[in-house]
Amino acid sequence: MPFTHDSLAQRVILGSGQASAALAAEIERLGGRRVMVIAGEHEAALADQVVADQSVELRWGEVRQHVPLELAQRARAAAREAGIDLVVSVGGGSTTGLAKAVAMEVDVTIIAVPTTYAGSEATNVWGLTEDGTKTTGADPRVLPTTVIYDAELTTSLPVDLTVASGLNGLAHCVDSLWAPRADPINLAMALEGARALALGLPAVVADPQDLVGREQCLYGAYLSAVAFASAGSGMHHKICHVLGGAYDLPHAPTHAVVLPYVLAHNAAAVPAEAGRLALALGATPTQVEADPAQAAVDALEELRVALDAPRSLAEVGLAEGDLPDAVQRSLPKIPESNPVPVTQASLTGLLRSAWAGDTPTLHRHP
Ligand code: NAD
Repeated sequence: MPFTHDSLAQRVILGSGQASAALAAEIERLGGRRVMVIAGEHEAALADQVVADQSVELRWGEVRQHVPLELAQRARAAAREAGIDLVVSVGGGSTTGLAKAVAMEVDVTIIAVPTTYAGSEATNVWGLTEDGTKTTGADPRVLPTTVIYDAELTTSLPVDLTVASGLNGLAHCVDSLWAPRADPINLAMALEGARALALGLPAVVADPQDLVGREQCLYGAYLSAVAFASAGSGMHHKICHVLGGAYDLPHAPTHAVVLPYVLAHNAAAVPAEAGRLALALGATPTQVEADPAQAAVDALEELRVALDAPRSLAEVGLAEGDLPDAVQRSLPKIPESNPVPVTQASLTGLLRSAWAGDTPTLHRHP
């Protein structure tokens, strides 16, 4: 039970239809005078709506996933030149990521208005990509001071992206169970996040305009990211970072595909946590009592099938010939905290199954 837990200081506001008013109040509270708004092409209209009442010094519309360093440098230069002191990001993890890249080098406050369930807004983790390699790090300067969640801004997120993004959030919860700085506080948030996502995602798939379901997803995504920020990157995130950076695979669908295989790899070694996860995902107490690890794997699989989530790495764009290289790149990155030793053979098996989209099979460990 002994632990050391750091909580990140941040204001979080959730209110459907409230983003514009909340943003005005926050800019005033934080004393922002020269505002930069970052919103990509697909989120431009949402951003127009959110910042309609603000005076905006600089509008930045170029956003790319995994934040190429060259793009970050141009955005930083533009922010410096315009004397920006506050950045508002309206968009998914790529947009928040660019705001963070600016804040690494320019003295700005970030207000994040997320439109996906990636959760980057709740972490002090930045990511930059250069020459096919994604580098991440933690820096207090990149943590948004305020996060404004407005479910109305997420109703335009297509169902397939909603599902992949929600499972990206769920991956934060699951990986927190065995990440290097896992602790009981992270676990509590991760499990509540998993419960909220498992409740919200099916509701949103049934009706993409369901604001209550969308709010559950945002709430779950926030908790998942808080748990992840504190627990650190576990095996799942290390694999996905390699896949995203080296082969330019889409972030959220890659997480959605890989997660069930990592859970199947690790769950039997952490039966207590797996049992609590299974309950959060909707398994019955009888199923959990019978076999907690199997119950967790089955519950995630049921959710995945119900959501019609992407199944294989082949489907998200990984060439079969890249598998050996992906294993070589990922293996040295797996944290020592992983509850099961990861070998070249076990990682090859995992990635091959994920590539083919096989039904995940629980690994029993001696
Ligand atoms: P994204 O931001 O690239 O968005 C995915 C797609 O959805 C884009 O085409 C975007 O334009 C579109 N979109 C977003 N919101 C929309 C809306 N409301 N309506 C219509 N379309 C919308 O992807 P993402 O999955 O949100 O984020 C992925 C990135 O975030 C990756 O680079 C990942 O590494 C990073 N990330 C970082 C952290 C962290 O802690 N630093 C955590 C999670 C993710």
